[in-house]
This record gives sequence, C-alpha cells and structure tokens, in this order.
Amino acid sequence: MRIRVLGCSGGIGAGARTSALLVDDDVLIDAGTGVGDLALSDLRSIRHVFLTHAHLDHIAGLPMLVDTAFDTSFETPVTVYARPETLDALKSHLFNDVIWPDFGRLPSADNPILRYSVCEPGDRISVGQREFHAVDVRHSVPSLGYTVRNSNGAFAISGDTKSNQTLWPVLNACEQLKLLVIEVSFPDELQQLASEAGHYCPSTLARDLARLRQDPVIWLTGMKPGEEGRIFEQVVRLVPERQVHMLSRGTVLSV
Ligand SMILES: [Zn+2]
Repeated sequence: MRIRVLGCSGGIGAGARTSALLVDDDVLIDAGTGVGDLALSDLRSIRHVFLTHAHLDHIAGLPMLVDTAFDTSFETPVTVYARPETLDALKSHLFNDVIWPDFGRLPSADNPILRYSVCEPGDRISVGQREFHAVDVRHSVPSLGYTVRNSNGAFAISGDTKSNQTLWPVLNACEQLKLLVIEVSFPDELQQLASEAGHYCPSTLARDLARLRQDPVIWLTGMKPGEEGRIFEQVVRLVPERQVHMLSRGTVLSV
C-alpha cells in the first residue's frame, strides 16, 4: 500500500496544500486543495473518497475532482464515504446546483457519477485488498479517523480531533500498526484556541499518546502554516521516546 501525501497543511499559502492522502492510485482520504496538483490521468483514477469531516480544508478539491472524473460514458462512479452529517452538508451546501452542479444526479439520476455512502464509526469498508475502518474522533463537527489495513499491516489517520476517548483504544487493538498520521494544529501557546476549535496541541497530544501501547512511526499533520517548526519541537520534547516526523507535501509512505 502506497500513501502519497498531496496536502497536509492547516492552511494555504507559500506552497502549502490542505489535507489529502492518495492511497495507491484509486482512493483518497480527504480531498483538500492538494488534489489540484495531480495529473489529469491521476485524478481520473480516483474512484473512492473517504472524508474525515465536512470542513472546507478537507473537501475543497472534491467538486472539481468529480467534475474532472465526469464522463457521460463513465464505467465506475466516484463514491464518497462519510458520516451522514458530512454527506448532508455536501448535498446541501456544495453539490446543490448553486455552488456546483449536483453530480449526484448527473449524467442521470439513475446512474450518477457521484455516489454517497454512509460510513459510521465502527464500519469496515473493503476497497480491493484494503480495509478502511472508521473511528469516532472529537472535533467541532461530526468527524472520523480511519485505520487502513492490507496484508502487510495498517496505518491510521486521525482526521481533525482534540483529546478523545475513542481513537486510542482502536489504535491499541490495531495489529501491526506501522504508521500514525495525527493532527496537531496549534502550538502549546494556543492551547485554549486549539481546544475550542477541536484540535490537538502538543501537550494534549502527548497526554493521549501516553495511552498508546504501540510504537508506530508518528507523522504530524494539519499544522497551521508558519507554526510547523515550533509545534514539531514541542511534540519531540514532550515524547522523546516516540519516532516523530513532520509530514510534508510529497512525502510517500508505504505499508
Ligand atoms: Zn476541521
């Protein structure tokens, strides 16, 4: 399983792109602005999109991705998997024939290019040889993290979350957990803001990491532009026993 980081920043500017991970060549986890850098042929290979939540930095690339995939003679639709609240938000506020065409009814209501698939915490969805397991997390809107497994092992991505009681038991039960992509958006100086916005800061992340009884390689994501160095240093200082890296656009991971 190849995981290509198309975007992992908490904002745009100066080359930053927002959340999008390409798993092999056909599955996206989140569809932030990073998808816009893909070649046309790569965009058209994507047929499954697992969303963590409805915030714009995680879905901004989805409307135009679907537009690029659109072909009146398409063979495989583009399926979006997400919590019902996220799917409702997409239908009401994005694919509503105002902001963007309703591709859930195009080219026909009977056979649309865009399909919506409800994914609730605990659901396991197989796509080819990979199993996506949805995990409840705690953000300012209903959100999911995912673990993704193939025969070689598993990786996990937290999505946006603050301290929670749900992700860590799932990670502890996840056999051969090799990589953990975890958000940490703000430095400790902004701990109050991080909590109010539903995000980790280094101190709250370190407290939750103390409950992790596995030793995956940890990749930090979702950091606010300009704060990356400070956040990374704070995390490394707080969890010196862990293998911690900073995710960046273009990083390729494998499981
Ligand atoms: Zn968010």
